[in-house]
Amino acid sequence: MGKKVVVIGGVAGGAGVAARLRRLDESAQIAVFERGEYVSYANCGLPYHVGNVIKEREALILNSPQKLRKNFRLDLRTSHEVVKIDRQSKSVRVKNLQDGTMFDEPYDTLVISTGSSPLRPPIEGIDSDGIFTLWTIPDTDRIKAYIGQNKPKRAAIIGGGFIGIEMAENLREAGLEVSLIEMLPQVMPSVDVEMARLLEQNLSINGVRLYLGDAVGRFEKEGDRIGITLKSGAVLETDMVLLCIGVRPNSELARDAGLQLNEKGGIVVDASMRTSDENIYAVGDVVEIEEFVFKGRTMVPLAGPANKQARICANNIAGIPDQYEGTQGSFVAKSFDLTVASTGLSESALKRMGKGHGRDYQTILVNQKSHAGYYPGATRLVLKLIFGNDGKIYGAQIVGQDGVDKRIDTLAAALRLGANVKDLKNLEFAYAPPYSSAKDPVNMLGYVAENVLSGLMSFVPYDLVDASGKYLGGEDAQILDVREEAERMMFSIDGAIGIPLGQLRARLSELDKNKLVIVFCAVGIRAFTAARILSQNGFERVKVYPGGASFFQSVYYMGKDDACKLETCGENAPASASAKASLVVDCFGMQCPGPIMKVYQAMKEIAYGETVEVVATDLGFARDIESWCKHTGNTLVKAEKQGNKIVAILRKGTDAAAAAAASVQSAPAPAEGKTIIVFSGDFDKVMAAFIIANGAAALGKPVTLFFTFWGLNALRKTARIPVKKPLIDAMFGKMMPRGVSRLKISKLNMGGMGTAMMRRVMKGKNVDSLEALVKQAMDNGVKLIACTMSMDVMGITKEELIDGIEYAGVSTYLGEAEGSNVNLFI
Ligand code: FAD
Repeated sequence: MGKKVVVIGGVAGGAGVAARLRRLDESAQIAVFERGEYVSYANCGLPYHVGNVIKEREALILNSPQKLRKNFRLDLRTSHEVVKIDRQSKSVRVKNLQDGTMFDEPYDTLVISTGSSPLRPPIEGIDSDGIFTLWTIPDTDRIKAYIGQNKPKRAAIIGGGFIGIEMAENLREAGLEVSLIEMLPQVMPSVDVEMARLLEQNLSINGVRLYLGDAVGRFEKEGDRIGITLKSGAVLETDMVLLCIGVRPNSELARDAGLQLNEKGGIVVDASMRTSDENIYAVGDVVEIEEFVFKGRTMVPLAGPANKQARICANNIAGIPDQYEGTQGSFVAKSFDLTVASTGLSESALKRMGKGHGRDYQTILVNQKSHAGYYPGATRLVLKLIFGNDGKIYGAQIVGQDGVDKRIDTLAAALRLGANVKDLKNLEFAYAPPYSSAKDPVNMLGYVAENVLSGLMSFVPYDLVDASGKYLGGEDAQILDVREEAERMMFSIDGAIGIPLGQLRARLSELDKNKLVIVFCAVGIRAFTAARILSQNGFERVKVYPGGASFFQSVYYMGKDDACKLETCGENAPASASAKASLVVDCFGMQCPGPIMKVYQAMKEIAYGETVEVVATDLGFARDIESWCKHTGNTLVKAEKQGNKIVAILRKGTDAAAAAAASVQSAPAPAEGKTIIVFSGDFDKVMAAFIIANGAAALGKPVTLFFTFWGLNALRKTARIPVKKPLIDAMFGKMMPRGVSRLKISKLNMGGMGTAMMRRVMKGKNVDSLEALVKQAMDNGVKLIACTMSMDVMGITKEELIDGIEYAGVSTYLGEAEGSNVNLFI
């Protein structure tokens, strides 16, 4: 007879130890006690069974007790709980949960693989009906039964870790409205906050309502519904609650037996997985282990480490020396159509260890495509790499739709094998367009890291530019946006100087060499080129914004409420939205700014009032297209998520323009509107425009004045409006006249004397003042439109313009012009 090995716990770690040990030692007597009804089941698959993605419950059960008993000759007993370890007598006390009997089982070697349990903090009302945790198959059964019987419409998830996030998706799949409450200011605390923002934005897009930085104060069950009062005072109502707050190790047996535990209750083990008692091993969620990068101590409740430790533990019991070399905490999780993954240490973990950015480590962030951009289906991948000043890799994180898993696994392998960031550029990957790019995103990390380490480029920390485009680093800075004009139309950073990359060399004089230049583009590649141009032209302080404008938008998604916009658009879409579009634009797989550039072209091809349907996979498209329509005077009729696609319907021109165009098409009478572009800011020219406009309005004709460039000054309020602006815009604003009362005549102004004389003559001849003409025009229904594009260029904000006017782009003007028979440029 071989030695007697008793294993407590029969799922990931416990079943693994037993099976491996049997393969190594036919003579061992192996007893496994599991307090639950199931052994060796896939707890990682439980969320997907709730969402019916894994339809068959049986698919979760990897091995039945009978099969394990037979194949591995185990004395395996389910519904048997070990209630005490007696190290003196080397035995465990076991309770048969079916009949309540107790017995003692001796051991030569004991293995503790009791795992962890979900936390249930002592919150008022937490034990109410309808509040669940998800950890075992019976938990899943209970949740599914509750959904089946009570037909809840709403669910609240408490905790935004990976199980909370997976459950958010699965409960949405099951048709519920989902709120997610997280005490920390971000979801998925194992990744850094800026990476978590990408997930949060996507959760919002997928209809999950987020409450971040807020904790549950109490639960109140009233009838079928559960009221949740948050610490902030916010109250929400739901029909069921899922607690995903975190886990605690099941180490009571070990503690009572006097084994060494850490302050979190984790059993302390050595590299061979042996506890402070040489006859007792422990593996899995219940142990404290070595962290791989800095060799500190940590706990990771993950299946990969539990399985590896099980094998090592069994080897050692069987007399084959083996050592666990630490955990990187590598994980991957799905959140709707995004995948998030990480390996090694996060930047926040380094900060908690007292390490400083620049002093002890560097970070880079690249915004890449999953495969060659020209091959359909490429999607965005955001990769963050954290490394030492000597290039040693400390950690990596990736968020994206496709290809996240293979990149994180490559980086995990590189980290494990002690690679330097420079090694990443040398890794030779299999490449063909459907799978990757000739420069794989992992190679790109190597290239960029090398550029940073050699001083060729430098990133500004993402959070040193705030949502309003203000640099928070304490020195004078200017933001340079090197994207094309069409891209800036869909999103622009307040106060940024827009110079497309191709024009930069010729327009360097527009930038101040004494200031720090922060360069933006869409994803960071053009910004790097721009930074190199600047650095080689005497600009000494140049930094690139990591991940570009697309990342900036995701980082500051909050408050923009993308999800609501999408849903509202869908619900309120007018009947015409479903009408057949004049043109379908397929942007499948295209990355920002590709879809917008394609839309820009498509809109040129259709007539005013016609629609175009755009299908895109870039998740940022929903956000960009709304903004683009606003800036260009087109109408976003509908934007909705259909599976992994965004389908948007756009109408050329505004609703008013479409109606005007439609009336032109349907009415047999010729168009009779009048449109005037007011480009000039000269007193006499603006006056002429208003006199003509009022004349036409008096004849009952529809009149539109479109104010652009200098003409915008006529619409400014006379009073000084305190608006925060970049210095150049503020200076420009000061030099330009505020409102019609300050406009000057175009000729013979003579330091203002000419204008004063003109005003006097007008008064004498009973010609209305310009101020009165403006009021008259507005009273007569003349439409005054301020060109939003020119406002951007001139640095004029809405607050500075008079009330009662409209804001639109050139398409609106053109739409109005379609319905006009007089069209003037003044
Ligand atoms: P477990 O597998 O939990 O097994 C412990 C067993 O011990 C339990 O069955 C328990 O009943 C039994 N037990 C406890 N005390 C006693 C006692 N006194 N007597 C007898 N039996 C006892 N990890 C990943 O890496 N990726 C994922 O995607 C992932 N998803 C997950 C999703 C869910 C919903 C859950 C619950 C976990 C997930 N995990 C995931 C974590 C992973 O399942 C665990 O890390 C792994 O199962 C740990 O193995 P273990 O043996 O330590 O504990």
